Amino acid sequence: MSDTRYIFVTGGVTSSLGKGIISSSLAVLLKARGYSVTIQKLDPYINIDPGTLNPYEHGECYVTEDGAETDLDLGHYERFTNVHTSQANNVTTGRVYQSVINQERHGDYLGDTVQVIPHITDEIKRRIQILGNTDKYDFVITEIGGTVGDIESLPFIESIRQLKWELGNRAVVIHLTYIPYLSAAGELKTKPTQHSVKAMLQQGVQPDIIVCRTEHPINQSVRKKISLFCNITEDCVIESIDASTIYDVPLNMLKERLDVQVLNKLKMEPEQEPDLSKWNTFLHRLKNPQTEVQIALVGKYVELHDAYKSICEAFIHAGTTQQCKVKVKWIKAEYLEENCNLAEVFADVQGILVAPGFGQRGIEGKILAVRYARTHNVPFFGICLGMQCAVVEFARNVLGFADANSVEMNPQTPYPVIDMMEQQKKVVNMGGTMRLGAYPCDIKRETKLFSAYQKENISERHRHRYEFNDTYAQAFEDNGMIASGSNPDTKLIEAVEIPSHPYFVGVQFHPEYKSTVEEPHPLFISFIQAAISKKATI
Ligand code: GLN
Repeated sequence: MSDTRYIFVTGGVTSSLGKGIISSSLAVLLKARGYSVTIQKLDPYINIDPGTLNPYEHGECYVTEDGAETDLDLGHYERFTNVHTSQANNVTTGRVYQSVINQERHGDYLGDTVQVIPHITDEIKRRIQILGNTDKYDFVITEIGGTVGDIESLPFIESIRQLKWELGNRAVVIHLTYIPYLSAAGELKTKPTQHSVKAMLQQGVQPDIIVCRTEHPINQSVRKKISLFCNITEDCVIESIDASTIYDVPLNMLKERLDVQVLNKLKMEPEQEPDLSKWNTFLHRLKNPQTEVQIALVGKYVELHDAYKSICEAFIHAGTTQQCKVKVKWIKAEYLEENCNLAEVFADVQGILVAPGFGQRGIEGKILAVRYARTHNVPFFGICLGMQCAVVEFARNVLGFADANSVEMNPQTPYPVIDMMEQQKKVVNMGGTMRLGAYPCDIKRETKLFSAYQKENISERHRHRYEFNDTYAQAFEDNGMIASGSNPDTKLIEAVEIPSHPYFVGVQFHPEYKSTVEEPHPLFISFIQAAISKKATI
């Protein structure tokens, strides 16, 4: 039996309290003490994975190395811990039921009535322990999506109840709750927390530690009350006050001794003091910028910033390496189509990023943004659909291919410069069928890509169905847009750039998924450097 410890993180009172950030922060502290940690998210909805969810509802879909389309919290896990996650790190109710139903059809339960308890809960427990059983981790942190009391999360809480019983000292439950402040009474209120813990107790789970999300410091009497009503010691009431940046939260948790309490509950002696020197350097640079740039992010879902979470965080990471604050100017692509004055819109930016996306809406606005960047020497970075728009723009306005397009937008285009990949033509299902996950890419020397990465072979993550149609590659190259990266096996073109432009780079992959606090992404760094130089020339 492996001696991996299991830490469960549940949420009470309301959603959006930041369970992902608390889980990630705890992982940072445990890692800084020399332990190996992975974090997993269990999502109570029925979709098999978030790949088919509307970004307006759930924010970005994060893609792992092994090509899993996952919840955006996995992005936080990777950014904070610098540890890769995988398909096993995100499990939905849909996936759990799918496995159980497949086994039932296969005849594995012959004779049994298949039920939520034990069959669904066994499958949930199996999926929690898959990570622990690899013997790779001292700790598996499992975050349960949703809020305690929801119908949907009942089987997950029941599974925790059973596991706590089975694992004894090897399991601990952290409940994250909200302490509202009633300004009329001038008081912080613990009642919602008491109710939330009661709901957990009804389901048979006693939290060991309560983390209180709050806008005001919680005083001793609040701690006492929670301790009294929720059956925990006062030192296990942890304050999580609103922070100016999510990257402060690990330090706040350190101050509140969350990691020490977790280790105590698990009957472990802290082996070494946490070494957070790298984290502190990052924070120092983040909080003391010497310069500032503004980047236009042109996208389709800009009303919900979470739809571009990894890009925003990658900007922050890259900015700190240059001690530069990166401000984002959100631009709705459709807005650019409405005869607006582009020079005015882009007057105060030093770089334009055209974002990934799907479907026709906003596409012409994105192409206008590319054109502006190309013709006005504004640093340009196109990611996935953003790169495809750069190719379409160049075909139309430089090569003179009228109505050139991606076949995603116009299947009848006379110039399908972005075409459907061969393997995609037979695909009928939408879910999990794109080109997904990490693929190698060879980089040409003497390109912007090479100066960013400083190497010839890289690997980046993908999520798309369409690709640069290489029958046009020569025409592009003859006219000034080169392919700077390609897949060594399939020869698919993965990156384009315009050498005569100060910085014009489009990539078919998603570099933003690999940017972390410890390893800011080289392409984001080079883009920010170009924006800083642009600022110097204005
Ligand atoms: N819609 C495009 C494709 O499927 C781009 C996808 C993306 O930007 N992630 O190829």
